[in-house]
Amino acid sequence: MSGAGSSRHVHLRVDGSVAVITFGNPPVNSLGHPVRAELAAALAEAAGDAAVGAVVLVGEDGRFSAGADIREFGTPLAARAPTLPQLIAAIEEGSKPVVAAIAGHCLGGGLELALGCHYRVALADARLGLPEVKLGLLPGAGGTQRLPRLVGVENALRLIVRGDPVAARTLAATPLLDRVVEGGLLDAALEVARAAAARGGAPPRVRDRAVDDPEAEALLQAARAAAEAGRPPSGAALRCVEAVAAARLPFAQGLGTERALFLELVAGEESRALRHVFFAERTASRVADVPESTPAREVRGAGVVGGGTMGVGIALCFLEAGLPVTLLEVAQGPLDQAVARIRAVVDGLVRKGRLSPEQRDRRMALLGPTLSYEDLATADIVVEAVFEEMGVKEQVFGRLDRVLRTGAILATNTSTLDVDRLALATGRPADVVGTHFFSPAHRMRLLEVVRGARTAPDVLATVLKLARTLGKTAVVAGVCDGFIGNRMVGRYLHQAMLMLDEGSSPAAIDAAVERFGVAMGPFRMSDLAGNDVGWRIRKRHAAEKRAGSAAPLADALCESGRFGQKTGGGWYDYAPGERRALASPQVGELIDAHRRRLGRAPRALDDEEIVDRLVLALVNEGARLLEERIAARASDIDVVYVAGYGFPATRGGPMFHADGRGLARVVARMRDFAANPHADPAFWTPAPLLARLAGSGRSFADFDAEGA
Ligand code: NAD
Repeated sequence: MSGAGSSRHVHLRVDGSVAVITFGNPPVNSLGHPVRAELAAALAEAAGDAAVGAVVLVGEDGRFSAGADIREFGTPLAARAPTLPQLIAAIEEGSKPVVAAIAGHCLGGGLELALGCHYRVALADARLGLPEVKLGLLPGAGGTQRLPRLVGVENALRLIVRGDPVAARTLAATPLLDRVVEGGLLDAALEVARAAAARGGAPPRVRDRAVDDPEAEALLQAARAAAEAGRPPSGAALRCVEAVAAARLPFAQGLGTERALFLELVAGEESRALRHVFFAERTASRVADVPESTPAREVRGAGVVGGGTMGVGIALCFLEAGLPVTLLEVAQGPLDQAVARIRAVVDGLVRKGRLSPEQRDRRMALLGPTLSYEDLATADIVVEAVFEEMGVKEQVFGRLDRVLRTGAILATNTSTLDVDRLALATGRPADVVGTHFFSPAHRMRLLEVVRGARTAPDVLATVLKLARTLGKTAVVAGVCDGFIGNRMVGRYLHQAMLMLDEGSSPAAIDAAVERFGVAMGPFRMSDLAGNDVGWRIRKRHAAEKRAGSAAPLADALCESGRFGQKTGGGWYDYAPGERRALASPQVGELIDAHRRRLGRAPRALDDEEIVDRLVLALVNEGARLLEERIAARASDIDVVYVAGYGFPATRGGPMFHADGRGLARVVARMRDFAANPHADPAFWTPAPLLARLAGSGRSFADFDAEGA
């Protein structure tokens, strides 16, 4: 071995005739400017060393690179030389062969870097992908031009338009990978490099290959149609297709098209929104006074009390993460039912080929159904998911307090009840926390973590860590009725009801907001969740003499037994066993009768009014939650809405959407709504924080930055 050089991110050593350049930038070896500059310098050094015949490029710590540093996007650093396209061009045009040795993640700019190399050797389980579309972008460093030249149009579209990574072994038969190995990556790469050096001559360049695919046009047409059918149609997906189409042009021309499309996307609303959500999700689990160094308690086993809709889903979450779960019910009947429902879901995974029968058996063996609290004695965390009644929950918490070991965490899945009061049913309120899962709990990504007044910092840290283990996106909320999500959705549903009073219909309201991109409009959502849930909450609010949530029409719907999908009808009719919402004549009559009682002549509401009234209802309540410190950041609220309520990520969440419109305009629009003769002016009084921000020309993003 001779010659060695190293800088902060890049290390070069010469092994015989091969220079091995190792680069690292924890945690994911992203390709920010310093890394690019040091890589360029190391490559130049290797190029100038007469003893070097070939180069191996390898990422540190068992991974190649997860791509560009997305914090650089849209900043001057992204354009500072060497840019990623410049670095890649320098490699490709070099006269000495460069071999990419690929392990772990090789994504986005990382894969584009590898595509610029002359040879690629990968571990079979390395993950290759171009996920830029998920951030509203396209691979902007030649990926859309080089990948189709190696894997064909169909594979390239799949990787670029869908953005899901694949294992290297699935691409082993394509010229993308010169060798795929199960182990010994560096040795294999060295072998390829030595052989290339010995062969001599100009190394092969991907750019010199042609895309020659008779199916290309049909494949591109189908991909265009699919991108246009998205809701809302994805500008990024469409441009990804156009970029792949351009790979049929001469290389330099295709690269120009890719660049132009990339620059258009990076400055556009969709990508800014998606990048906002990306960072917002990562920021959400940071809590100002709970440093990341806070030691978490160990969670090796869990308990769930209550095996209804939520208990079953929560137990499934633990099982999927490989954690043993003890599930407690009141009687054998409901316990058996809960186990049967868990089993049905796990069996379904086997049917879909996502789980082997052995994996199913191992997963089911982790489940311990019981009727006895004693069996919870060893659990590290117990999540309570019994009926939404304070008395019942207090009793359960009292019993848990008597049996759980010291240091175990007592969590409640309550949607509305006071976590602080519940904590007092135990002698250890510091160990009590809310874990508000969404239905179906094993599918929905969001977990609202409710921090009680006395919740210990390490309990919070433990639950946030556990959320990651369970694959959830956690947002911390303070204690109030409905926390972040349901408190806001209460205002949203209230506004939807007022629009019915004024003349709109469930179908028109749902369709308008679904065209905006929300996954499911308020009426279809209520039918899915069960209209009786809100009915019970309204009754409680009435008993507590709380104003502002009366909904006589929704009450009448429930009084007629129309609870939603589960009763075959709610705001819509449903055919047995089907989920398709059908207009209901009975509901039409109910609405007409209600309007007659109000003495209202119905008027037509257009999509813009419907969407604005729903979204701005969220924004105004969101501002109140910030002011009350129930939510710590506006970006947390956006995460709640995107991850838990189907708000379109391409619009960044309600608060980001409001910022985009300008808060002064938002406030002006609320004033317009307040002027509607049927409006409740109190509803549209801008929250003080919103008024303040709007008045001083600031945004929710400014609020977050100032608070950080
Ligand atoms: P559910 O009625 O489907 O299930 C409740 C289960 O708890 C029943 O199986 C019942 O037998 C059992 N149970 C009642 N008392 C018990 C006790 N003392 N000990 C043990 N088990 C007992 O209710 P759900 O929809 O699963 O809701 C459970 C909790 O989750 C509630 O607090 C609810 O507000 C909350 N939640 C529900 C949803 C939802 O969409 N359903 C979403 C988020 C949170």
